[in-house]
Amino acid sequence: KSLVITIDGPAGAGKTTISRQLADRMGYRYVDTGALYRGVALCASRAGVDRGNEQELNTFLEGLNLSLVRGGDGCLRLYAGEQDITAEIRTPAISMAASAVAALPAVRSWLLGVQRRLGAEKGVVFEGRDMGSVVFPEADVKFFLTADLRVRAERRYEELPPDSSQKLEDVLMDMQRRDAQDSGRDLAPLVASKDATIIDASALTIDEVLVQMMDCIRE
Ligand code: C5P
Repeated sequence: KSLVITIDGPAGAGKTTISRQLADRMGYRYVDTGALYRGVALCASRAGVDRGNEQELNTFLEGLNLSLVRGGDGCLRLYAGEQDITAEIRTPAISMAASAVAALPAVRSWLLGVQRRLGAEKGVVFEGRDMGSVVFPEADVKFFLTADLRVRAERRYEELPPDSSQKLEDVLMDMQRRDAQDSGRDLAPLVASKDATIIDASALTIDEVLVQMMDCIRE
């Protein structure tokens, strides 16, 4: 039977790596919904959209066409229309901008439709912040993946490109600020859904997390 599996949690907990590997093991698709929020943030800033103007924002969203495509290396690529924006969405500035647009009702409701269409066909792993709580409350298996702030910041720090000037403390502070913004917003705040299995990955390897998840899925 094909399932809908959701993996929510804060930044840097390992959601992307785990979701991709879990999807591979299951023979499923995987969808990184954070990339969609990042895409909205990047395109809105390039188009000079006034985020405070709801009408302007809605007109912009109506014309926006984001798509996630699996690349040859198994990683997802994000397109805005024909343009590949995969690299551009992975900057610290876009992380913060994505978190800011994610608090806007117009953006959340537009992406709700996009995400539900992507889930229409089962056999998919969704990663994000509110996949189990809001977007797919009926999902078959829900996980909430978390880890200590310092562990998450260290992981993110190690993933930075060699030319990055960010220090570990900068990464940690950005992450703390983004966590607070994502948890404190009125709409779809970051919280574990009541029926989610919570996994603290602070002291676990990727394989250990995957084993726990596969056990849950088999039950
Ligand atoms: O997962 P990632 O760090 O790429 O997500 C970027 C931002 O998008 C998050 O900080 C969060 O504010 C927002 N987001 C969200 N709901 C999701 C996925 C991401 O609000 N389902």
